[in-house]
Amino acid sequence: MKTEPIKIEPGHLRARIAPSPTGALHIGTARTALFNFLLARRFGGKFILRIEDTDLSRSDKKYEKDIIENLKWLGIIWDEGPDKGGPYAPYRQTERTDIYRNYIQKLLDQGLAFYCFHSQKELDEEKKNQLIQKIPQRHICSFRDLDINEVKKKSKKKSIIRLKTPQKIVNFSDFLKGQVVFDASLLGDIALSKDIETPLYNFAVVIDDFTMRINYVMRGEDHLSNTPKQILIQEALELDKVNYIHLPLIFDPNRKKLSKRFGAASVAEYRRVGYLPEALINFLVLMGWNPGTNQEIFNLEGLEKDFFLEGLQTSAAVFNIEKLNWLNGEYLKKINADKFYELALPYLEKKKFFEKRLFSKEKLEKILILEKARISKLNEVGESIDFFFKKTLIYPASLLFWQKTDKKETKEILTRLKKIISEISDRKFNPDNLKNLLFNEAGKFENKGYLLWPLRVALSGKKNSPGPFEIMDILGKKDTLQRIASAIKKLNLPA
Ligand code: GLU
Repeated sequence: MKTEPIKIEPGHLRARIAPSPTGALHIGTARTALFNFLLARRFGGKFILRIEDTDLSRSDKKYEKDIIENLKWLGIIWDEGPDKGGPYAPYRQTERTDIYRNYIQKLLDQGLAFYCFHSQKELDEEKKNQLIQKIPQRHICSFRDLDINEVKKKSKKKSIIRLKTPQKIVNFSDFLKGQVVFDASLLGDIALSKDIETPLYNFAVVIDDFTMRINYVMRGEDHLSNTPKQILIQEALELDKVNYIHLPLIFDPNRKKLSKRFGAASVAEYRRVGYLPEALINFLVLMGWNPGTNQEIFNLEGLEKDFFLEGLQTSAAVFNIEKLNWLNGEYLKKINADKFYELALPYLEKKKFFEKRLFSKEKLEKILILEKARISKLNEVGESIDFFFKKTLIYPASLLFWQKTDKKETKEILTRLKKIISEISDRKFNPDNLKNLLFNEAGKFENKGYLLWPLRVALSGKKNSPGPFEIMDILGKKDTLQRIASAIKKLNLPA
């Protein structure tokens, strides 16, 4: 059940995306970023990017770069960052150590946090025993009330800083989950910081959200179990409360966690194979948000005005690659010829059969445009137009046969076509004329396919391809006749 959010004055909404740079920008993180971005835009607030890089052993600059690059590519742009580092610099936790130190010191001074000197081995041992005894696994630390002088004596020993977790019930409301009640005594003494300089995740998040004046925390529901810990830290420091929205996760069509095969790839991977940012945005927003109408096509600009929180769904979203392919195809259809050429050429250049120097830009534009409405992503470029670039077409002679026509009839038809086409003057060799003339000729048959099918196969070598008149126009008279002659030759060979 959805609950009422804390009221925020118009224009004061502050949301964030806080990825850890431990991997490339994931499709789920991109979705969370998009919803936060839209939330901020819709309510005239601010959207912030915070790189959560406190875990030095797992964080990597190359992932930070990937996250930034791909959010920008999607058009999910943040409004604020630190003063230094240029317009797109994000906040980074590693640059905020002084801030965390102040707050952790405050908790220590107030006796609300303490040094825990238990070794990892001791903690593991404790957990194991709790498991055997079937009691909750938690560490209520025997050092929590240690005298300051005792602490000083032990100061050489390895320690971490923990919150003196109060034994109480934590209550919070989540916009999608409703009222959540959690028994804090199950948590044990929450780990806050490795030392005074090195905060751990839950502590850093609370301090960051507070100091960045974040009032809406929207994130994946895998973080739901962290929320009571974060609330206890807020309460210890007497910080403001925030609104929580925990988004249901994304599943594959079999209702399993996303795998490499289904959707778990990074945004960069989708970008690489030729999905457009507009299509991905449209796809992402529909994974977990219901506009309440049958509308399926959404762009970022429109969403900034139309997005509403009540549209967020409480059940898991399903990743449907067919839907993404369909959307991408729709966006590809809409882009103009120049833009398509610019986007598609790099993909064509990667194909082995393609030798750019043999074709003028004008011709390539004409060829590529034939494919615009036929593909669902850019790496398919070339699949249905490769025959333009090949000297010899490889296909079985039988492909030339229209329905029940045989070799002899097909040969006659192709020979007739060759004659008609050779008599067209160069000046009249254009799609309109060709269409008029050949349609007229095809009309003499019971069905146009008798003539147009073998013609199209002779030109393309394919079962499916663009229409014969466009192909002829691009190939020109000489190549057209040559391809028809090759088809006739194929039919002369013994089957
Ligand atoms: N850094 C966390 C993550 O990458 C997100 C933390 C948060 O949203 O509170 O999953």
